[in-house]
Amino acid sequence: MKLFRRISEASKWFQARRRAGKRIVLVPTMGALHTGHLSLFRKARRLAGRKGVVAASIFVNPAQFGPREDFRSYPRALKRDLALCKKAGIDAVFHPSAGSMYAANHSSWADETRLSRGLCGRSRPGHFRGVCTVVAKLFNIVQPAIAVFGEKDYQQAQVIRRMVRDLNFPVRIIVTPTRREPDGLAMSSRNLYLSPAQRGQAPRIRRALMEARRQVRMRSHPAPVLARKIKSRLAGFRVDYVEVVDARTLESVKRAQRGDRVAVAAFLGKTRLIDNIIL
Ligand code: AMP
Repeated sequence: MKLFRRISEASKWFQARRRAGKRIVLVPTMGALHTGHLSLFRKARRLAGRKGVVAASIFVNPAQFGPREDFRSYPRALKRDLALCKKAGIDAVFHPSAGSMYAANHSSWADETRLSRGLCGRSRPGHFRGVCTVVAKLFNIVQPAIAVFGEKDYQQAQVIRRMVRDLNFPVRIIVTPTRREPDGLAMSSRNLYLSPAQRGQAPRIRRALMEARRQVRMRSHPAPVLARKIKSRLAGFRVDYVEVVDARTLESVKRAQRGDRVAVAAFLGKTRLIDNIIL
């Protein structure tokens, strides 16, 4: 397995692979890898084929964290991550430094301005600009034919699809289902922050979403009523938002019905958890 820290070396290596006719599939991550990431790696391998190249990037992207967010404390576990990548059959890991990705006078950004307005974009101003910028940079450096993202970050996946379409990145975006703990909690690097008591509470988000889906499958509900029902099951959380949105436009809907998405962001202590479900 190759490990690249320098952008120029990574670029050169990927370019040579591409010229040799290899299909490159990229999985962007922030590291602290868990089973959710590994499922993306497996999907990437299937898409690349035995002869293709599967690349993972591990980069805690400062540009997508707000000033009062957890950039400094975000879990970092490079040695363990590299062992997991090797075991998963990753061909190349790209792990640049923040300084090499963002020059001191960096002043250019990729910004999606519609799908990123609501949900996490509302509570995390600048977050999706940071995400789009780093993903655009990774696409330019690696130039993958395909990139794989997780449905756990539903809004992120939609925003990236839109950016790729609008800016004509020659990359196919594949989105894979959310991997969960046996009790339903969506796997996340941030779950490491949870105390045992919080960890016990955390699966209630999933249960509230499943219950909402069950109710909507019986009959449609006014969206605010459904959101209230979900919130009422999240006592003990500090709810950031519960929203029922059109799965494609991410605009709020008036009536919640089959096929819509419900997205939740809620804090347990300082830990912000997100999840979503299709109704
Ligand atoms: P992160 O390292 O949290 O930035 O995530 C890297 C990629 O893994 C993103 O595309 C996420 O959507 C995806 N991902 C994170 N958690 C999960 C999960 N539980 N199941 C599937 N994909 C996930």
